[in-house]
Amino acid sequence: MSADKPAILGGTPILSEKVPVTRPTVAPRGPEFYQAVDRVFTSGFLTKGAELEGFEHEVAAFVGVRNAVAVSSGTMGLTLTLRCLGLLGHAVMPSFTFMATGHAARWNGLEPRFADIDPHTFAMTPRAADSVTTTETALVLAVHPFGAPCEVDELQNLCTSRGIPLILDAAAALGGCYPDGSRIGTKGLAEIFSLSPTKPLTCGEGGIIVTNDDDLAKELRIAREYGNPGNHNSVVIGLNGRMPELSAALGRHNLPLLPEWLAWRAEAAARYQDNLHDTEGIAFQRIPHTAKSTYKDLCVIIDRELFGLSRDVLAGALHQEGITTRRYFDPPLHRQAAYRQWTVAPGALPHTESVADGILSLPLLPDMAADLVDQICSVILRIREHSAEISHRAARGGADG
Ligand SMILES: *Cc1c(COP(=O)(O)O)cnc(C)c1O
Repeated sequence: MSADKPAILGGTPILSEKVPVTRPTVAPRGPEFYQAVDRVFTSGFLTKGAELEGFEHEVAAFVGVRNAVAVSSGTMGLTLTLRCLGLLGHAVMPSFTFMATGHAARWNGLEPRFADIDPHTFAMTPRAADSVTTTETALVLAVHPFGAPCEVDELQNLCTSRGIPLILDAAAALGGCYPDGSRIGTKGLAEIFSLSPTKPLTCGEGGIIVTNDDDLAKELRIAREYGNPGNHNSVVIGLNGRMPELSAALGRHNLPLLPEWLAWRAEAAARYQDNLHDTEGIAFQRIPHTAKSTYKDLCVIIDRELFGLSRDVLAGALHQEGITTRRYFDPPLHRQAAYRQWTVAPGALPHTESVADGILSLPLLPDMAADLVDQICSVILRIREHSAEISHRAARGGADG
């Protein structure tokens, strides 16, 4: 084996083609798809038409909730939900999340209060959330990291005892399941999905809020329409958050295939685990027992000591092999420039820091062959075998090796 050097040491890459980290999943475009597109144009409605209504009904039925309100993005869904709740004060949330979670709070004047995560599931722990909850806390905004459910029941108990709402940023989680078998989307006061191109279900750009609260759904429909209830006397400072008809048509086209897509995502994730679970220095995201993740990203933690290389040096070596990776969510919110006012005391979020430091998303593609997963894993193992030489080189040549 040692004769075959990794590309970073001058060897020939195992893979002949570049591998992206992800690619949008879109159902095959047969005649029915183009008929649906044509229907949109002939209907005379490019927005607020039959596709939107149909898509909302179909998502509500799929998730098992009373209401689904489609909007222009996940960020829009989060922002409008918080706006409709009219809250003031602090929003308890993880720092280990996508920036839009925090932004939605800030666009509503809410101050983030960051709580630490579990080092294995990457989800905010109820205990950590409790520790930063005060009388000024207006809500808990929890996240299902990479499409695996957070500890929602315990968080709900915390919120119920404090009399505050629990809102779930479920951006990556459409189609995932809680440990009790119910679909993600059925808990908290509302859950918000993103439908952007890297999410399990996409409609180009879009978001959808699901809730069993009929009043909230009604308010959201007004809020996405500038706050105009119909008489041009706005009742809330809304936005134009509408989802166009063509996007809704694409969402409807994709939705029936989502379960199939999630099944192969889980299969590819299992294949990675089968190949690498014995490798010291690589740990997979732990999915809560009996829960189902969407595997929006396939995330591993690289332990610098045990693997022999830092996450960044490994990412650099994989890049040389033509394998693209991502570092979600590094830096976490409390270390981003826009959040410098809301940063935390050093050492306050130890697991957030260590996970952000070691996390790496590996390629997970639609129609990804098992062979490709195996090859990526062999590349990783080959790099690991040469870790001493690579880290020596990296130390001389710069951090990203
Ligand atoms: C993708 C994502 C968002 C934002 O959704 P958009 O549709 O891109 O606006 C918010 N939160 C999380 C956790 C996400 O992954």
